[in-house]
Amino acid sequence: MPVKSRQSAPSVTVGPGGRLLGLSAAWFGDGARRRTEARRARRCVECSRPLASSRSPYCSRDCRWKFHGHYFWDAARIYVKRRDRYTCARCHRRFRSKELEVDHIVEIARGGASLEYANLQTLCTQCHRAKTQAFRSTLTRAETAGSREPPPAFEAVRT
Ligand SMILES: [Zn+2]
Ligand SMILES: [Zn+2]
Repeated sequence: MPVKSRQSAPSVTVGPGGRLLGLSAAWFGDGARRRTEARRARRCVECSRPLASSRSPYCSRDCRWKFHGHYFWDAARIYVKRRDRYTCARCHRRFRSKELEVDHIVEIARGGASLEYANLQTLCTQCHRAKTQAFRSTLTRAETAGSREPPPAFEAVRT
């Protein structure tokens, strides 16, 4: 069952340490400064490879998505799906983009970094649902055992 399209939803911006920023403050502050510097130095803002011109701070489309993805969850999702060649990390089958979701390998509720590429993987909707359910059941068991697990706030970040 494909998930509802979230294309029209506004981009979620995540700051250093996974903090959600109300607006894309980091993008217009830190991000703008880095792009300007990259154009001036003629070095790709993402991979530092030399640029042919100073018109764009990116050497390739991949670097553009990757850089945007440091600031915007939507762009991070696009980049990770491309990086993983539209293949589910669990069942290893290829899917169309809309049948895939980007998952936090270590859940945010467990302290996983929200916008770090090393912590992001592509899963098909079915495998993603199975993983999320397994995660929820471990949360419940832990809570029953009396440990103080944070609530599964990762759902809010994932949309
Ligand atoms: Zn590059
Ligand atoms: Zn799968």
